[in-house]
Amino acid sequence: MTTTQKIKLKIGDYEICPVPTGIFGLDGGAMFGTVPRVLWEKTNPPDERNRIAMEARGLLLKSPGNNILIDCGNGGDFIAKYGEKLGAKFNEMYNINDEGPTLKKSLAAHGLSFEDIHHVVLTHLHFDHAGGGTCERNGKIVPTFPRAKYYVQKKNLETASQPNLREKASYFPANYQPLLDAKVLTLLDGPSENFLPGISAQISNGHTEAHQMIRISDGKQTLVYCGDVVPTSSHVRLAWVMGYDLHPMNLIEEKIKYLGPAADQAWYLFFEHDPFCDAAQVVRQGSDFAVQQRFWL
Ligand SMILES: [Zn+2]
Repeated sequence: MTTTQKIKLKIGDYEICPVPTGIFGLDGGAMFGTVPRVLWEKTNPPDERNRIAMEARGLLLKSPGNNILIDCGNGGDFIAKYGEKLGAKFNEMYNINDEGPTLKKSLAAHGLSFEDIHHVVLTHLHFDHAGGGTCERNGKIVPTFPRAKYYVQKKNLETASQPNLREKASYFPANYQPLLDAKVLTLLDGPSENFLPGISAQISNGHTEAHQMIRISDGKQTLVYCGDVVPTSSHVRLAWVMGYDLHPMNLIEEKIKYLGPAADQAWYLFFEHDPFCDAAQVVRQGSDFAVQQRFWL
């Protein structure tokens, strides 16, 4: 494997700033679906409870007067000692803690506080993406970012509100109802070009209903925030899809559709859950895809 390169990226007016919100634990088997443990444990060693270390990495697009955050992690800032939202048992099960980087600490590293965020884009409402977007203040669950507008796909909110049996453990009203109550949630309906300057949403229904991948482009450079469509650089390979995915074959079709241009036009793919890199560029490899170069941004 080539070494991970350290680079700084600026696309249009936006400084590209990773926002790690904390390593948590997900079942290794569930993260790799039908891929046998003997293959994935080489790169992702499991703990005694078979959990592998997963990052929950948001992305800050920082520009003068317009700070955009994509996804918010689990909300490790808001565990027991700060007031609980989903309970200590939940935090324990997923090993959610505030010992390492958190949303608050990572934004502070870029000189920003919760008040400085203008827009929060959620790929979907699963707890490890939307959890940090709301928090408990004075006994009430409220939007974490008091001045921000939030964005999610309309159909994803609908599915979160009436989750199917497989996703029931991932969608919680506490992660979206306070946004509706505060009237700060904008519902996007399908692919949305430039819904914010230079920023577009492309839809995938393989992982869950109406997940949005976020593309940032200035015509010269393009970066895609993959969310759970390609959660880590290991998942660039087409058959490596998660056991969590609702429609694995659809997801593979969607990966072919989105990884093709990514390989041909040298896009940066940004990974939400990879503990070992922020992003990568990919190449075609026969009828599959492979990582060409990993990056820390
Ligand atoms: Zn998800």
